[in-house]
Amino acid sequence: MKALRKLHPGPGGVALCEVPVPVPAADEIRVRVSYVGICGTDMHIIGDEYPAELPVTMGHEYSGVVDAAGAEVTAFQPGDRVISMTVGYACGQCKSCREGLELKCAQQRSIGSGMDGAMAEYVTVKADRAFRIPEGVSLEEAALSEPVSCCTRSVLEVLKIRAGDYVYVSGPGIMGQLVAQLAKIAGAHVTVGGTAMDGGRLALARELGADLAVDVTKEDVKELGRRLSGGEGFDVAYECAGVPASADTCLKVLRPLGQYVQVCLFGKAIPFDMNGALIGEKHIVNSFAAERSSFELTLRLLKERRLKLEKLITKIYPLEQWEQAVADTAAKTGYKILMRP
Ligand SMILES: [Zn+2]
Ligand SMILES: [Zn+2]
Repeated sequence: MKALRKLHPGPGGVALCEVPVPVPAADEIRVRVSYVGICGTDMHIIGDEYPAELPVTMGHEYSGVVDAAGAEVTAFQPGDRVISMTVGYACGQCKSCREGLELKCAQQRSIGSGMDGAMAEYVTVKADRAFRIPEGVSLEEAALSEPVSCCTRSVLEVLKIRAGDYVYVSGPGIMGQLVAQLAKIAGAHVTVGGTAMDGGRLALARELGADLAVDVTKEDVKELGRRLSGGEGFDVAYECAGVPASADTCLKVLRPLGQYVQVCLFGKAIPFDMNGALIGEKHIVNSFAAERSSFELTLRLLKERRLKLEKLITKIYPLEQWEQAVADTAAKTGYKILMRP
């Protein structure tokens, strides 16, 4: 089968390879991948800015159909439409695992970085890490379950927004668009910020429910937050661009004791005004990827049609055209690029 693999350390080193079709172990299912998205994390893996055990088949954002099941698997049958968690293995014994925080398990391995992922015709995963896709949810939409789950975690799990909070979302890409929608569901007033090149993306943020969408090169966001809140500033700011200037804006526009939430990876250490955060006693909250609880919550939201995902799928390429798909993702002009193995 064809699989897109990161072969060597250093930037690049990625190739579409011919590899054997994996055989599921007794507790695993084999999934024929329908769609697989390119994540910011994949871009960091390609750029050698994110740890990966090489060589590895990339991809953790996917949907597919069960094709074979190991002897011990009773929950799934061939033909079932599924997604699975990003963590493909965790020890199950340590404190983090017992608390449902498997991403913090010292032994955890994620599909697409620590073990073979879904940028391939087939992927095998442990059956107890897979979920059935609810009826009425398309395979294309289901392929967004992982990015949605990361945002579910950042908006509804690591921090609880209160109805009436003034929320600022920096970056109108896929993650910002999802965070904005979830913050609206939670009852917040939502402002999405972008730059001059984000005109179309800011317009989409408004269309998908944000109260305001502003170009930060034209609008004083700090002043806007003060005006909205009657003097103090935004209650919560989500950094959804993964760039230092955006982190800076998020911190500055918050009220004293406001909450800064980091959603996207930077891929490197960045300068950050911790002194300003200290003086304002601002809370710095980090939300990384998605745990089982985040996926479970996401599937409920998808089932109840609470999120508008259709316009967030910018383009679908055959896996063979992965180079174009990666170039489109790097251009940061659209939202999610999917590939079809
Ligand atoms: Zn992802
Ligand atoms: Zn563990």
